[in-house]
Amino acid sequence: MPTYTFNKVSLYGEKSVKCAGDCGRRLRRKREFFQTLNPFNKNVDGSLKQPEQIRAELTEDLNAWKQQPETCIHCA
Ligand SMILES: [Zn+2]
Repeated sequence: MPTYTFNKVSLYGEKSVKCAGDCGRRLRRKREFFQTLNPFNKNVDGSLKQPEQIRAELTEDLNAWKQQPETCIHCA
């Protein structure tokens, strides 16, 4: 049985946005975005994903998340 080391590529996102509700509070959110480098994390052409590529994808996810509105527990 081969042993694989699954390396994790992660990116930490932080944002401070205004509540989407009526209170106008500032909300801080933190989130970790990650993918693992492993034999199953492949591209559509079958090649293994490279760390730089994963980081680029995570950056895209992070930027999309930053655009999402947040609502505080009082307005939810
Ligand atoms: Zn609110």
